[in-house]
Amino acid sequence: MWVQIHGLHQNQRNEQNMEAIGSSYFLELLDLDRASLYYAGYRRFLRILVEFDLREPVPTDFDFPFVDETTGVEYCDEITFKYERLVELCYFCGRIGHNLPNCRRMNEEKKNNEVAYLSEIYNSSLKEGIDSPHRHHSTSLQNIGESRGAQSKIV
Ligand SMILES: [Zn+2]
Repeated sequence: MWVQIHGLHQNQRNEQNMEAIGSSYFLELLDLDRASLYYAGYRRFLRILVEFDLREPVPTDFDFPFVDETTGVEYCDEITFKYERLVELCYFCGRIGHNLPNCRRMNEEKKNNEVAYLSEIYNSSLKEGIDSPHRHHSTSLQNIGESRGAQSKIV
């Protein structure tokens, strides 16, 4: 799946960092979109093709510290990932391959505690492309998943 890396400082946009990020946060790095190094404006993100470990939640963001080599000043970029053409992302457990109503972990939790809480970090902002957050959503479950800030309750 193609993943977009957002938030990387201009000086840090290079193939080495694409490779480093791809191999640290994903099961396998398959390819780099080198053309994305020249994206500008609102398309200023990098694209990498990766394979996921479906047993783990998808990575959402991380801090990327670096030192400006000319000034010696330390920076820390907040990097976020967006997933292209991501259809089935569970807003409860953050894993790919099933949707909210079919989440085994959520159903377990509901069984034990009667109430399950949606995570704040897994929502439609992780999706880019055919299922982008700019398009309308028709089901109420997706609307629950979209809410950010306060925890949403699924009863
Ligand atoms: Zn799930």
